[in-house]
Amino acid sequence: MKNLLDFTKEELSDIIKPAFRAKQIYEWIYKKNVDSFDDMRNLPRDLRDYLKENFYFNPLKKVKEEVSQDGSKKYLFMLKDGKTIESVLLPMKGDEFDENGKLIKHARYTICVSSQVGCKMGCSFCLTAKGGFVRNLTPGEIVEQVHFIKKENKIPYERRVNIVYMGMGEPLNNLNNLAKAIKIFTDNDGLAISPRRQTVSTSGLSSQIVKLGNLNLGVLLAISLHAVNDELRQELMPVNKAYNIASIMEAVRKFPIDMRKRVMFEYLMMDGVNDSIKDAKTLVKLLDGIKAKVNLIYFNPHEGSIYKRPKPENMEKFRDFLQSKSVTCTIRESKGIDISAACGQLKERSKNDNS
Ligand code: SF4
Repeated sequence: MKNLLDFTKEELSDIIKPAFRAKQIYEWIYKKNVDSFDDMRNLPRDLRDYLKENFYFNPLKKVKEEVSQDGSKKYLFMLKDGKTIESVLLPMKGDEFDENGKLIKHARYTICVSSQVGCKMGCSFCLTAKGGFVRNLTPGEIVEQVHFIKKENKIPYERRVNIVYMGMGEPLNNLNNLAKAIKIFTDNDGLAISPRRQTVSTSGLSSQIVKLGNLNLGVLLAISLHAVNDELRQELMPVNKAYNIASIMEAVRKFPIDMRKRVMFEYLMMDGVNDSIKDAKTLVKLLDGIKAKVNLIYFNPHEGSIYKRPKPENMEKFRDFLQSKSVTCTIRESKGIDISAACGQLKERSKNDNS
């Protein structure tokens, strides 16, 4: 049996004739959210039987859901082979009403998806890294995380969401499947999510950043930088041995990006490790000539972590320094701090609950 969601519409139309059936199947799944092939009423019975015998389109089973006080929802999903992954729904802004109570702006959501089961990159601050790498997710397993969460939370089809490839795994280590997932997401008969709403976040695989850029998919890029010198970055992120900071910056400078958008640099701040003004000065130099936005993120300590949450005043000084040098910078409160929103934590806890 094959996962129907692994197929782009073009691939499906090569298998299922006449070709317009592929469009109909896409609409039933992504727009009408049906649960079974029998519900695809405009397909002939023999086609439905053929699909039933050869395909499935429900690759995820919800195992656990945790809701944070800030409204973030974290999902633990089980895949067909029993492996588990995490995804997070982050409400960015609630519905907005005018003084008469009339809805003037709909709520905005971001969905953080996983791209692999486990991860090879071994970042020292990350729980996912502890379990090592298991396997790549297929395109359909990536796509279904967003589809499932939209459905589950009754987010209407027309309400576009932002997608960040920032969950478990290094998306650029799974570039072929990622690229296919991006195409499926973007399809107008599918979820119709513009590539400009999709941000690929990488630990800094410079050669893969170049390859992603060459694919010209139109997605946005985020770099998990976290340190401004190779020595510290290597300690935090072993990938830096193969791809140092200079190589990342070079790849970023070549990356095709919408003129109105910026490359995001994620900077996980840890008390006394990377939060000094000296670090801020180096960061400004590194970003010279790049249309960048820096996100300073509070480190969310987990059990056994050697790093600590930074002091708010140091975060603010760091941000103010960057802004004084005309670098766009925001402080991001770790959403879902009470549900351990750093990737891998729900999975880790669930294992403990079961033991
Ligand atoms: S932080 Fe991301 S890239 Fe690093 S080990 Fe964790 S999942 Fe992998």
